[in-house]
Amino acid sequence: SFILFQDQIIPREQGKVDIEDRGYQFGDGIYEAIPVYGGQMFLLDLHMKRLKRSANELRLQLPFNIDLLTEKLNKLIGLNRINDGIVYFQITRGSAPRQHFFPDQAGSILTGSVVSHDWRGNHDSGIETSLAEDIRWLRCDIKTLNLLGNVLAKQYAHEQGSQEAILHRGENVTEGASSNVFIVKNNHLITHPADHLILNGITRLFVLELAERLGITVDEQTFTLDDLFSADEVFITSTGNEVMPVVKIDGRTVADGKAGDVTSKLGEAFTGEVTQFIAS
Ligand code: PLP
Repeated sequence: SFILFQDQIIPREQGKVDIEDRGYQFGDGIYEAIPVYGGQMFLLDLHMKRLKRSANELRLQLPFNIDLLTEKLNKLIGLNRINDGIVYFQITRGSAPRQHFFPDQAGSILTGSVVSHDWRGNHDSGIETSLAEDIRWLRCDIKTLNLLGNVLAKQYAHEQGSQEAILHRGENVTEGASSNVFIVKNNHLITHPADHLILNGITRLFVLELAERLGITVDEQTFTLDDLFSADEVFITSTGNEVMPVVKIDGRTVADGKAGDVTSKLGEAFTGEVTQFIAS
């Protein structure tokens, strides 16, 4: 397979990063993961907008502009013959002798790869989840390479036989280890506001737009563990999961244990948009 290394597309085996790369030593970098449907990147502009925001927040220079980046990613998708998949890329602050403060001279390093993905997996049966305390830092809005809090939560969920961890700061639910969390109560959609405590998922943003179009009322407000357990429906969103029903939380069944009506409606609307996108 092929990868992107700066502006070059090279065989996977030839991608080598320096041991003093700040991404490797400090997690000093950012990333994006963009869904590919029918060989094309979906919701590209929103992903690139978030990339630029992440870079700005960390005062990190992109190695080249978004148009060239888009062109290279499209080439990567084509060369790897990806129809449905996810393109992943990251940008670090480059390589310099190890000191915490920013180096004077160290160009940023961009690497990217792309994987195939079997999209419509277990959307009907949903997933099981485990609760985990959200121990991450206070800038979860930045899509940085620092993912240890997420990794530990996901590992815990994995050991419990769950597919995702639902994170909470004390009583308040924030998001998933690699997804956003929504609850439905009396046909009303609730999700954590896009502040510094969550990553503002692109799928989250798109689902909020779909909800509005479908006339489903939305509240971007914090909700508690009690709200979570008394919800009519729970689902997560992410690039990899799209709209995914949650049927169990810490072994407790959500409502009747099946995907709820509002979740299904949003899932169908999402699939409809993707179908249209592929045809366009
Ligand atoms: N929240 C976290 C912590 C994530 O890592 C992700 C994606 O991986 C999301 C939310 C969902 O974001 P998106 O919908 O852009 O994939």
